[in-house]
Amino acid sequence: MKPIENIIIIGGGLSGLTLAYLLSKQNICATILEASPRLGGRIQTVMGKQGTPLELGATWFSDLHPNLLALLDNLELKKFPQYAKGKSLFQTKSFEPPQEFYIPETETPSYRLAGGTQSIINALSSTLKPETIKLNTKVISVTEIDSELVVETNTGTNYTAAKVVLCVPPQLVSSQIKFSPKLPDAVSTILPTVQTWMGGAIKFVLEYANPFWRTQGYSGMLYSHSGIVSEMYDHTNVETTKFGFTGFLNGGSSSYTKDIRKELVLKQLSTLLGPDASNPLAYYEKIWTDEFILVGNQIVHRPHQNNGHPTLQNQYMNGKLMFSGTEATPEFSGYMEGAVRAAINAFEKLVQHN
Ligand SMILES: Cc1cc2nc3c(=O)[nH]c(=O)nc-3n(C[C@H](O)[C@H](O)[C@H](O)COP(=O)(O)OP(=O)(O)OC[C@H]3O[C@@H](n4cnc5c(N)ncnc54)[C@H](O)[C@@H]3O)c2cc1C
Repeated sequence: MKPIENIIIIGGGLSGLTLAYLLSKQNICATILEASPRLGGRIQTVMGKQGTPLELGATWFSDLHPNLLALLDNLELKKFPQYAKGKSLFQTKSFEPPQEFYIPETETPSYRLAGGTQSIINALSSTLKPETIKLNTKVISVTEIDSELVVETNTGTNYTAAKVVLCVPPQLVSSQIKFSPKLPDAVSTILPTVQTWMGGAIKFVLEYANPFWRTQGYSGMLYSHSGIVSEMYDHTNVETTKFGFTGFLNGGSSSYTKDIRKELVLKQLSTLLGPDASNPLAYYEKIWTDEFILVGNQIVHRPHQNNGHPTLQNQYMNGKLMFSGTEATPEFSGYMEGAVRAAINAFEKLVQHN
């Protein structure tokens, strides 16, 4: 195989890192340009005060996700099932008691990653040469000059590449990166309409000294139409030594202050699970609307709108520019499986053309 020189990967999320990893296994070195100060994008595990891995971003996957599972195997990472034993709660109206239900054991349970989802990001990046990863480096333009692409960044440094792979949500490509010559109308009109999965989501995590809900027979699973917490799950670590919850807050709560959101979360949980819920060791949250996931308001008429659109499968700038990232792939787009599939698709295109 002829070596491919000068590949630039824009975006250091799961897709960009998986692509760099696949290339590195073929001794092909790529440079990752990542706008934010950290790797991982929509994967972000924070540690609680007692070291509990707490997910502010992607958390679950299943046996339906073969490419992700194979990658986890290759990286020797361990998965474990989401705890779901005991009474789960469903709150319909604030003035009615919650309904209790039990989750049946299924053949395709939801899994979590031991040590937190960040483990996959850490494992991937540890296989790459540190000098090939440029953090705090936002790409602002891509210009075709003869047989090369010049990638301009906000640091003042430009990079020259034979191939550029966009591992960034298409809506962000549209709002943040200028192309010269312009991309065809067929693709530039689609880009702003591709829904960025989970853009705008509000995730919260809580860490507790003890799993008081488990000892009272609760699974920790909660769905609510009436409280600020719309969805919640047990977040105990794989060793069952550290405890907590993770879940989503309803979208309307983004206009409250963090203190008010925390107060409402603890009030809802104390009412449902008892007074122990009001004394967490830590509360963290993240509203996924920063410049690294969304710029401007998305107009979304259907879930996964234009994810995997045919224009995202094509190559542009005379075969030198292509899309990857979870929204680019037609199957499982939006999910970690989609991010890995997109990376495999881009890898195959890069290798085939040489
Ligand atoms: C709250 C939340 C919960 C989720 N839960 C799940 C779940 O349980 N299961 C699941 O499978 N998936 C889940 N997901 C989705 C999952 O996180 C994504 O599918 C996956 O991480 C996307 O990876 P990616 O590499 O395609 O994109 P991203 O992770 O978005 O990475 C893109 C990267 O590009 C960078 N970037 C942006 N603009 C530029 C620029 N101009 N120049 C350079 N870099 C740039 C960003 O900073 C980012 O690091 C969740 C996501 C969120 C936000």
